Amino acid sequence: MTEQLAHTPSIAPARGPRQLIFETGSLESRCVEVPALDVPSASMEEMLGGRVRQTALALPHVTEVEIARHYAHLASMNFGVDTGMYPLGSCTMKYNPRLNEDAVRLDGFAGMHPSQPVSTSQGALALMAGLADALAEVSGLPAVTLQPAAGAHGELTAIMVFRAFHTANGDPRTRVIIPDAAHGTNPATVSMCGYEVTTIASDASGGVDMDALRAALDTDVAALMLTNPNTLGLFDPNITEITSAVHAVGALAYCDGANLNAIMGKARPGDMGFDAMHINLHKTFSTPHGGGGPGAGPVCVTEALAAYLPGPVPVRDGDVFALEWPEHSIGRVRGSHGNFGVMVRAYAYILALGGAGLREASEQAVLSANYLKSRLRDAYDVPYDRPCMHEFVLSGARQRRDFGVRTLDIAKRLLDHGVHPPTIYFPLIVDEAIMIEPTETESLADLDRFAEAMLSVAAEAAATPDLLHGAPYTTPVRRLDEVRAVKQPDLRWRPRT
Ligand SMILES: *Cc1c(COP(=O)(O)O)cnc(C)c1O
Repeated sequence: MTEQLAHTPSIAPARGPRQLIFETGSLESRCVEVPALDVPSASMEEMLGGRVRQTALALPHVTEVEIARHYAHLASMNFGVDTGMYPLGSCTMKYNPRLNEDAVRLDGFAGMHPSQPVSTSQGALALMAGLADALAEVSGLPAVTLQPAAGAHGELTAIMVFRAFHTANGDPRTRVIIPDAAHGTNPATVSMCGYEVTTIASDASGGVDMDALRAALDTDVAALMLTNPNTLGLFDPNITEITSAVHAVGALAYCDGANLNAIMGKARPGDMGFDAMHINLHKTFSTPHGGGGPGAGPVCVTEALAAYLPGPVPVRDGDVFALEWPEHSIGRVRGSHGNFGVMVRAYAYILALGGAGLREASEQAVLSANYLKSRLRDAYDVPYDRPCMHEFVLSGARQRRDFGVRTLDIAKRLLDHGVHPPTIYFPLIVDEAIMIEPTETESLADLDRFAEAMLSVAAEAAATPDLLHGAPYTTPVRRLDEVRAVKQPDLRWRPRT
């Protein structure tokens, strides 16, 4: 271990877990003085009956400074985009401007109640209508619902809309086609909507195999679900041919828009022939995410599908805003209007950048990815080696074959170099996949720091493979049994009795 650490360059010392807050402090410590109880205990008995607590609450007894240090320490054990680059492919963990947090905390937004009448919600409705217009412009699809709570929920909403459309035309159909590079949420959505999944293989260049697509298409097919650019970070050059083939059998084309970060202001899924897409506001339009916080997955559709969208939809009626139900709406998919705070951040981001700024963000994202790919191409295998969009996929197959080092070992070792590892083992079609999405918010110096870490780990894999098998060495916790953590989570603290 000491010898291993000697190989570990310029790394912050590990700061392991300390006590829980319940286990710190002492009984006489406190940070608030509660006024003396002025309810006579007899009348309290009367009011609460047998429900008066007989034992003291097991609350922590700590001073203000102990609390401050406790949480500052916890924050220092975490890794976030404020700590360093967070290049999780497919997740778009970009930096979120603090300005958006200011916007969402404005009294008029933060103090609203979801059941307020339309007459006192005009500002919020104006914001939602403005955001919907902006998303329609970016996607090239004119009708929008903001209700879905996340990307997967947006997919579900859209396929429900497709089903309602096909059913209204007297032909609900039975199957949905999905390429094998798709995100797992796509087949999950299809099953939940009662359709059967037909998987088609990607071709040698990583795109949709046109022959496989044509063979799978018939009048039983309700839709194709496609991510473009796809999860290999590649833009499908046959995209209009693909959507035309889908339409030729009366099916609809769905775009998983999680990768919109690559094409904003450059190309619009509506113009490519897609009938619907979801947009991950929390990925592309800058809401902090990844810790299970709220997201939003608005769905944009063609005029032909607008009547089936969830309702109610904010609409402009002269100088005022109103709420209207689309004629054949599938109903609500979410209480109230969805995650409003995420919409405020997205709108602030869009207004701050403007059309030209969004385009530049995409250009930067694509440039960053191609730069990193070219810096890493000699040290790792590049299974689909053509210019990429905002992300790219390497393979650790060589390291596994030659040195017995798995991609998981590489990811763990990167932690010792102070960088967050990329997404690994996805997409499934790449052996030992390493999926990197640097995003547009990283400086050249940070991209270089990440590249140096990846190159150092590749060199270590060759020279000292066992070093990687034991990594990480410098993190608050070492290598976890991830299967057990999922199967037997132990998240509850029980008070000492
Ligand atoms: C993130 C992602 C999703 C799912 O989005 P959530 O907001 O996490 O539900 C779907 N498809 C792709 C390609 C994604 O990257």
